[in-house]
Amino acid sequence: MIKRVFRRICVFSGSRDGYNPAYLQAAHDLGATLATQNVELVYGGGSMGLMGAIADSTLSYGGRAIGVLPEFLATEKLAHKGLNKVFVTQDMHTRKAKMAELSDAFIAMPGGLGTFEELFEMVTWAQLGVHAKPIGLLNTNRFYEPLLNLIEHAIQAGFIHETHRQLMIADQDPSGLIEQLQKQPELDLPKITDLDQT
Ligand code: AMP
Repeated sequence: MIKRVFRRICVFSGSRDGYNPAYLQAAHDLGATLATQNVELVYGGGSMGLMGAIADSTLSYGGRAIGVLPEFLATEKLAHKGLNKVFVTQDMHTRKAKMAELSDAFIAMPGGLGTFEELFEMVTWAQLGVHAKPIGLLNTNRFYEPLLNLIEHAIQAGFIHETHRQLMIADQDPSGLIEQLQKQPELDLPKITDLDQT
């Protein structure tokens, strides 16, 4: 089996800590895993919540962290000050495109609306064949179980094609998740224009 090689992974995560300390611990563990595997972190460039925690952890284990911020979030208060590189984009759209361009894979950690939006844009781009990069969910505390159930529900209701179930891989363990993403074979997805209604 050919394993994919990741130079950079983009991580979407909450700008808050979450109530359960397991979430901060997971950000710490994922940052440490990226650093020790020599994979650069690409993320939203913030200093707060799980975003700040994963960047701090990556850096403290000797890894590299790249922030991509839109102008209006690149402030003294919000931006992380210790990053190896920062890209400031004009707006949120160019920010997401830049994060996608820089990265070989995507991981969504627990988070809120911003995290969901970023995750789903990458999934819908994959669904349409805009990119073929693996997408993972770090399923700490089974955080993503309701989302996976919702997707299953939408498949059963005929709104998501069942082959698109493969677009997201979930794992509770950071290194287990990265390994699954590395081993993901090239997906043979139907072209959206060829999908029938069954
Ligand atoms: P949320 O999940 O709603 O906390 O939003 C987190 C996602 O939205 C991150 O992956 C960021 O890309 C973006 N975001 C939200 N708040 C900030 C912030 N204060 N600084 C930088 N990016 C943010």
